[in-house]
Amino acid sequence: MALYKNSQVVKHSDHAAFDAIHNPGIAAPDAGIYRCINCSHEIGIAKGHTLPPQHQNHPDGVAIKWQMVAFAQHK
Ligand SMILES: [Zn+2]
Repeated sequence: MALYKNSQVVKHSDHAAFDAIHNPGIAAPDAGIYRCINCSHEIGIAKGHTLPPQHQNHPDGVAIKWQMVAFAQHK
């Protein structure tokens, strides 16, 4: 689970981008933290970078699917 210390710099959002489930191997639609929904592994990724088709300690025979848990906002 993603952690934070300073609640002044994070904000709740119901943005639809948090609901989308992404296949590995596609470009991340937004920068942020993504979580593998089948094993809870988290990654940080830049917008447009490829969501990893594999990652450490993912159980064999289970699909990797990515869901965004934190949206990095650029100014
Ligand atoms: Zn996984």
